[in-house]
Parts: sequence; structure tokens; C-alpha cells
Amino acid sequence: MDKRTGLPIVGMVGGGQLARMTHQAAIALGQSLRVLAADENDSAGLVAGQVVLGRHTDLDKLREFASTVDVLTFDHEHVPGEHLQTLTYEGVVVRPGPDALLHAQDKLVMRERLSSTGIPGPAFARVSDVDDLVAFGGEYSWPVVLKAARGGYDGRGVWVVDSAEEAAKLVPELLAAGTPLLVEQKVAMRRELAALVARSPFGQGAAWPVVETVQRNGINTEVLAPAPGLSNEKWQQAQDLALRIAAELEVVGVLAVELFETDEGLLVNELAMRPHNSGHWTMDGARTSQFEQHLRAVLDYPLGTTDLLAPHCVMANVLGAPESPRMGPDERVHHLFARYPDVKVHLYGKGERPGRKLGHVNLLGDDLDDLRHRGKLAAHWLSHAEWLDGHQIH
Ligand code: ADP
Repeated sequence: MDKRTGLPIVGMVGGGQLARMTHQAAIALGQSLRVLAADENDSAGLVAGQVVLGRHTDLDKLREFASTVDVLTFDHEHVPGEHLQTLTYEGVVVRPGPDALLHAQDKLVMRERLSSTGIPGPAFARVSDVDDLVAFGGEYSWPVVLKAARGGYDGRGVWVVDSAEEAAKLVPELLAAGTPLLVEQKVAMRRELAALVARSPFGQGAAWPVVETVQRNGINTEVLAPAPGLSNEKWQQAQDLALRIAAELEVVGVLAVELFETDEGLLVNELAMRPHNSGHWTMDGARTSQFEQHLRAVLDYPLGTTDLLAPHCVMANVLGAPESPRMGPDERVHHLFARYPDVKVHLYGKGERPGRKLGHVNLLGDDLDDLRHRGKLAAHWLSHAEWLDGHQIH
């Protein structure tokens, strides 16, 4: 408890943009997020009131940090599970708890658990040697999707394997590097969706409208809320699946369930137990943002309503340009505001590197095509200083 305010202290492990935006929500609730960041120049390290420097793999540091907060939560899933078990045993309130979080840390554990609970997902198998992968490819037909069970993100740790020959080249190398592997059937999908929900320790659940997520080279570029043309039945099904997973795994906080929409129905791709890129639109487009909701949930406050504030909300990620842009960020923001005064800009204060998530923009309105068009132009402009439609600055 913060004696100065009489309000609880949430500690977040990880100083990335998710911690930065959670801090923003904490301020409105009268709190100041405490952040364990690896570097003072991390996205949240630059802004949060109380930043402790330390590694998320250092148990002593985690223990020291945890002793100064009421509840410990995360901006990523990389804290070793055994450290979290130890902290829980020592009385630290960890939300989501290590048993739930494991399903966001390990794709094989997640697949095994969800399939035993009857939640639909692609066919999968553990890969302990080349033969496992070759047998799976023979059974389900090539190509198949090989994945690192742990540690992957933004498509790193995902390989589409076309043949037994390719498998023979790839698998020994990965196993030698100590990467635990699984293989999945390559799903013929119409598109990718995400169902974002939150759950509190009291057991209250809240679901945001189901969204479509658009990816390029394994990286999310755009989110459309609500998912265009999704039938009521599928919408309901996606929300029910996500709430069911949250309850089954006893998740506390925000849970993002990434889904594939196929001709045969919805399949779960993966889980994240923290605010997620598919929910950045909620900062401007929903009554309660995912960051506020995550705080409410981990503090066991009643959850906020999740309705959309406009017929459509589009989020576009600002991804670092391949080369240094011809204008600095200040000038780029200036010109963006001049052209599109309604676009909501969220920048993370991160160094610019090719493909890196530097920020996002949110647009609200009635005309989805117009919002998507302008979102794409605005996001590209912010990282590249170049208007994709040839618009010239005077
Ligand atoms: P990450 O943890 O890096 O986000 P994912 O498991 O979400 O990795 O996979 C990244 C992307 O790869 C997905 O968004 C999807 O486009 C594609 N993908 C993953 N699994 C499959 C699959 N079984 N079939 C087809 N495409 C897949």
C-alpha cells in the first residue's frame, strides 16, 4: 500500500511498451506503477515513477522488487516459472499465477492442456527428433509448422517445413541449440482473430468485441475492431472459448486468445496473459482499456465495461523503417497531426530499428475502409517519413 495515497502498489516485471501503457492507466486510478526494467532507457523506464533496474531472471532481484509491491504482474512471459513458484511459496501475490502463466510460456503445455479440455486447436505433436517431425508430415501432409515451445515471439520460433529433407536439416540444429519443439498441422485459415478477455480473482469475467488481426511476415500490422463480417454465432463462440480458457486455467488479468478462423470453425493458436497488441485499440476505442482492466483484475477490483465507442476502431502498428528516415520523430509527429487531426498517436519512446514496434495509431469512425486506409498511411508515415499515397509536404 502506498502510504501517501492509501492505494495499492502494482509491480510489473518488464519495462517494455506494455508496462509504459499500464503506467498510463495506473496514473488515472491514482496509482504509480512500479516497474522492474532491465535498462533505464526501456520504454517504461523512461516514464514510470518508480523504476527498479534488474533482470527478470534474477530471483534475488525479483524477491526484493516483490517485497515493495502489493501484487506482482508482467509485461512479458519470460520470468522463469520456478522463480514465480518460489515467490508464491514465500507469500508474494503473483497474478497471473505461475500455473496459469505456464500456458502462455510453453506452447506444448498449452496445446496438451487445451486439447485435453476439448478446446479446438490444430493437430500437434511433440518433436524430440527428426523422425517425430517426418512421421507427422507423413500423416498430416507437408508443409507443417514447426515451433519452438518456448521463447518465440513475432513469428521468431516458427518455421514452415516443406519436406522430410528440410526437416532433417532443421531439427538437429534446433535441438542441439536446446530449443524444445512441437509441430502443428498447417491450418488453411480464412483469417486470424483475437478474443481478448479479463478475469479477476473473484471470478468476474469481461470480454471485449472480437477483433481481426492482420499480420505481415509474422508481425501484427493492423487490428480491426470489431472483426468485420463475423457472424453472431462465431463472435459468441470466440468469447465463450476465451472466457472458458480464462476460468479453466484460473487466469488473473488480461488474457488474449489468438484464433484461426477456418471453414471448419475456430481454432486456438496461442495465449498471452497480459495486455496484448490485439487490444491496443481499446485505449481509444473501448469504454475500458485493456491496461486499466489488467490493473483492475490483478487488484481484484470489479471490471469495467468493454463496449466499443464507435462502429469501427482500427489500430495500425508503427514498425521501424529499413533505413533512417529523412526527418526526426518530432517533425514526423508534427506533420501527422497537421494532416490527420483525429488520429490518436501512441509512441513508445523506443530506439528506431527496422521492423521494431515503435508505437501505434488508433482511428475511430463509421467507414472501415477509410479508417484502414488512413491508419496505414499514418503508421507508415510515422516510421518512414513518407506518405504511401504520394502526398507532399509543403
Ligand atoms: P509467435 O509466438 O511468434 O507469435 P505464433 O505461434 O503466433 O508465433 O505464430 C506466428 C504466426 O504464424 C501466426 O500468427 C500465423 O500467421 C502463423 N501460424 C502459426 N501457427 C500456424 C499453423 N498451425 N498453421 C498456419 N499458420 C500458422
